[in-house]
Amino acid sequence: ADSSAPADLESRITSGMRDVPDFPKEGVVFKDITPLLADPESLRAVVAGIAGRYARGSVDAVLGLEARGFILGAPIALELGAGFVPVRKAGKLPRETHRASYDLEYGSETIEMHADAVGPGSRVLIVDDVLATGGTARAAVELVDKAGGTVVGFSVLVELGFLQGRRKLTDVEPHALAVL
Ligand code: AMP
Repeated sequence: ADSSAPADLESRITSGMRDVPDFPKEGVVFKDITPLLADPESLRAVVAGIAGRYARGSVDAVLGLEARGFILGAPIALELGAGFVPVRKAGKLPRETHRASYDLEYGSETIEMHADAVGPGSRVLIVDDVLATGGTARAAVELVDKAGGTVVGFSVLVELGFLQGRRKLTDVEPHALAVL
């Protein structure tokens, strides 16, 4: 069997992840991807699975969303011949930033990107581990818009389909290696 086939990769991901109930708070089932990262074959397969959807040279920058998007984003950027740009929680980046906020169940969250990290017309792929309610994804797209870049893709390992996060993304069709 071709172990890089999408269905094989999806089952590798769903069986390799661990569900952690009530983490970080009650009612949330946390998707722990650390076993996938620790397994050499799985790590290679997930990076190749996302990078393989884009032609080398078709992406200028890979945006990784703190923190697990950093781990996946950097090797994907290398595969694509692109640069890597971190998107961080508010207050972590030292220079001038673009900011975008989104609502949580209680309160709100703000993420930032260095204002000079993405140039006008830059083709950007956004990467994270989990697409849940879509708030983070939508805010990340907003950051790219503010910088004048173009989002050419949004890829995650896992989409929690029942949360319907993709509805929050209007101009971008998110892609997930596995859908739950
Ligand atoms: P959301 O903005 O609701 O789509 O949440 C996406 C962000 O929160 C991603 O950066 C994920 O890493 C993290 N996240 C949300 N829900 C989960 C979950 N059930 N398990 C693991 N990470 C999650």
